[in-house]
Amino acid sequence: MNIPNLTMSNGVTIPQYGYGTFKMKEYAEVYEGVLAALANGIRAIDTAAIYGNEAIIGKALKASSIERSELFITSKLWNDKHHYDDAIAAFEKTCADLQVDYLDLYLVHWPKEANLEAWRALEDLYSAGKIRSIGVSNFKEHHLDEVLANCRIKPMMNQVEFHPQFQQESLREYCAKEDILITGWGPLMQGKVFEFPILEELAKKHHKNVAQIVLRWHLQQGVVLIPKSSTLSRIKENLNIFDFELTSEDIELINTLNTGERIGPDPDTITF
Ligand code: NAD
Repeated sequence: MNIPNLTMSNGVTIPQYGYGTFKMKEYAEVYEGVLAALANGIRAIDTAAIYGNEAIIGKALKASSIERSELFITSKLWNDKHHYDDAIAAFEKTCADLQVDYLDLYLVHWPKEANLEAWRALEDLYSAGKIRSIGVSNFKEHHLDEVLANCRIKPMMNQVEFHPQFQQESLREYCAKEDILITGWGPLMQGKVFEFPILEELAKKHHKNVAQIVLRWHLQQGVVLIPKSSTLSRIKENLNIFDFELTSEDIELINTLNTGERIGPDPDTITF
């Protein structure tokens, strides 16, 4: 299995397939999940300070003995840390918990007040060589407009909800134009993707399962995907998507599921 890389606007490459860790908090689940992902060839780990699992991930990374330069570690700045000094301190805490001295990608987790202050902190950390690439998450066009109009360094990534039912066409066009890569979160609709007969038919046709069809669709959309599972058999089966291809007809069929409905919160009306 060979996970392809995508290249960000600053030339840094990111593995197109990473390991999501949202809602993984219990010690054994996180520790064993990350080690299983690494043992099966995954090198990119997606976490966030709010997930409360960075310290356990740090222990798993250490135990794996994989060279730091082979790993791609993404974390995110939480919403109550957007003021400059708080953002710098939050970054330092994340690195200490993960037992690393730099991050590969650091994202502003959600648009809130003081987005520009948070962005200035990320720019300074990037300029100081402490983060290899910086970006945002859950930013809509109008949030990006504000950052792009005021930044020294453009975001290289926007991590947003993305799956067959919620394809974000206009945001993806905007990001493509601005040379901002997309990571899709919730690729399996947080477990709700298994309800669509169209996907079951495609699974039969390709001798794959529904998760594999959807994850393959993500790959062919050119986004970074970070599916989450702490079950070894699912970690393995989710990775088994590099030996087949969806046709353009298959993709058109999947695209008929795009109703534009989110499963997660709208970034303009979050209450956290
Ligand atoms: P997901 O779409 O990856 O779905 C995860 C769920 O699907 C889990 O309940 C898992 O048990 C189940 N699942 C996984 N593989 C399966 C399989 N083969 N068969 C059946 N069920 C399977 O949802 P997610 O975890 O929310 O999103 C992926 C990652 O994206 C997260 O773990 C996190 O790292 C990131 N994320 C980021 C944000 C953000 O605001 N930036 C928000 C949510 C998630």
